[in-house]
Amino acid sequence: MPDIVPLPPGSTIGILGGGQLGRMLALAAARLGLRSHVCDPDPGAPARQVTSLSTIADWGDASALAVFARSVDVVTYEFENVPAAVIDAIEPHAPVRPGRRALAVSQDRLAEKDFLSGLGLATAPYVPVEDPVSLAAAIARTGLPAILKTRRLGYDGKGQVRISDAGAASGALSALAGAPAILEGFVRFDREISVIAARSPDGSFAAYDPGENVHRDGILHTTTLPARIDSAAAAGAVAIARRITDALDYAGVIGVELFVTRSGLVVNEIAPRVHNSGHWTEAACLIDQFEQHIRAVAGWPLGPTDRHSDAVMTNLIGDEVATWPSVNNAALHLYGKAETRPGRKMGHMTRISPRQK
Ligand code: AMP
Repeated sequence: MPDIVPLPPGSTIGILGGGQLGRMLALAAARLGLRSHVCDPDPGAPARQVTSLSTIADWGDASALAVFARSVDVVTYEFENVPAAVIDAIEPHAPVRPGRRALAVSQDRLAEKDFLSGLGLATAPYVPVEDPVSLAAAIARTGLPAILKTRRLGYDGKGQVRISDAGAASGALSALAGAPAILEGFVRFDREISVIAARSPDGSFAAYDPGENVHRDGILHTTTLPARIDSAAAAGAVAIARRITDALDYAGVIGVELFVTRSGLVVNEIAPRVHNSGHWTEAACLIDQFEQHIRAVAGWPLGPTDRHSDAVMTNLIGDEVATWPSVNNAALHLYGKAETRPGRKMGHMTRISPRQK
């Protein structure tokens, strides 16, 4: 194992991406006496409101990225679509954690599925698709219904189309505008869960209890703890997260989304970062996922992941944020975004109740 010296308080964490996740990471770093320096092309990025160190740079501006990297002690990121060229510009000057391999695997749904099935983990059946001919062949393999997903840059249900009957196939392909894609067979799941786990550069590992996720219009709506799964499934989900993080020699927090089916757990996708379905940890754990991530990338010992309460985290999407004055008996977290737009994550709230099991 590499000998990583913990960064002392006063060190600076560079954060690529200044959205709500970057903002919550910066807040957690501040509590540990660490500075954070946010880098994002958007001058109005909400994370800038909580730290005085910030860089406005396009992802293609290698010299600005190098200046940023030289001014920090470690670089992490709040989104998985960080271009490889950004890491090329940064890595000569500062370590990047979780790291290049985790990005490469999670940026491309085909690479991700190949990686997961290479570890012997169950995924939805999948076939790469480039054109109508390969789509027809893919449908013959997966059967219908199936879901056509762009290989890159899909999020919150964007970049994917459900194909229910063969007549809908060509429309699905044109909806994705010719982008390289994969066809996934439809998984008949009982429920969706996710595991938020952390691994240190020295290989130590800690995971929070799996949460149960409900999506609305392709966007996470609620995460509920505990998930309605038995203890064997919960342990299995955590073991899967451990396999994945070990294989990636990972450092940081990861979100692993899984389908619970009658024949076992199926991995849907991985996010090499703090994750929306881990926001409940702010209210129901001593050390939340944001502090845990900062600890991991700074080479500090991981904190405990015990859950002291049951919890329901609800996202406030678009206009739902206007309900904030009526949110009582819940921990409210608003992201400071200037403009409310439909489908935009504006905040979240977490209700806790005494732990039942
Ligand atoms: P994703 O962007 O891949 O996380 O997909 C968003 C949501 O679509 C998931 O949380 C599921 O609810 C649903 N979904 C995605 N892939 C599949 C699949 N292969 N089978 C069934 N449902 C899926």
